[in-house]
Amino acid sequence: MRDFLAQTLRGEAPKQKQGETAHFRWQWWDEGVLLLTPIQPVEKSLILSAGVHGNETAPVEIVDSLLKKLFDGALTLQWRLLVILGNPASLRSGKRYLHSDMNRMFGGRWQQFPDSIETQRANVLEHQLETFFASGEEKVRWHLDMHTAIRGSYHPRFGVLPARPLPYDDAYLAWLGCAGLQALVFHRAPGGTFTHFSSEHFGTLSCTLELGKAQPFGENDLTQFAETQEALAALLSGGEAPVAQAPPLRYKVVQQITRHSENFVLHMTAQTLNFTAFPRGTLLAEDGETRYEATHDKEYVLFPNPAVATGMRAGLMLIEMK
Ligand code: ZN
Repeated sequence: MRDFLAQTLRGEAPKQKQGETAHFRWQWWDEGVLLLTPIQPVEKSLILSAGVHGNETAPVEIVDSLLKKLFDGALTLQWRLLVILGNPASLRSGKRYLHSDMNRMFGGRWQQFPDSIETQRANVLEHQLETFFASGEEKVRWHLDMHTAIRGSYHPRFGVLPARPLPYDDAYLAWLGCAGLQALVFHRAPGGTFTHFSSEHFGTLSCTLELGKAQPFGENDLTQFAETQEALAALLSGGEAPVAQAPPLRYKVVQQITRHSENFVLHMTAQTLNFTAFPRGTLLAEDGETRYEATHDKEYVLFPNPAVATGMRAGLMLIEMK
């Protein structure tokens, strides 16, 4: 199971579905889903996921390299760990998704989409998380879902945190800074992301990590992810994270731009970077009668994408938190 990624990409179920190393037991639960349980009892559980979007390969390579270090004994696992390669079918085709965006489907929202590889997979992953948390009693629960963004960004590495009723733990936010994130974006409304699902249903401290720009397998310059990789290796083995260069800037979502019809126009170009600032009064998008304007002194755009299906998010607007 040291070659979990290669085996997943071949689309084969392994002949051996469980085993043991000197430090942990492993169990293959499903395509792209692997459980690692340390032999010594631990008090923390972690979901480490990547490849929810199949073209976002750098984080998948990071997971692969961390797993190899765990299997080789170079890292000693200190968490009960569920590793998830989100969408194996789309990873094999190098596409963001095959039918619909899976990271809008969690929390049962998949039932509102036409049946597809992604709706089925979202359903499976929800059940895997339930099983994972039902079988452990750890009080500390983290979920790190690693992505790369479609666009370039003023902050190449950033985290998006789901809305949650309780404030975020400071040590958790500090760790995200140590993992190389330059900005943290706080959602204020529920959504269909994998991290919102884990946070809402299992009380995990969850973050969607956006680590640079999407590139095909083998074309990623993993040195730009070195800090994140180092921090993850330290996290898994209970070591100290590298010191953050600067605490991440904090933003919160103040409005969502939604594509409601065929008439939707986004007044941004294909080159508009994530975190581009717009002054108050700027017309951001139009959709028939609906006009989206910046209503704060400075609003920053995140994930602008006019090509989404109708009813879907075409961008988020943020303000900086002081
Ligand atoms: Zn993604």
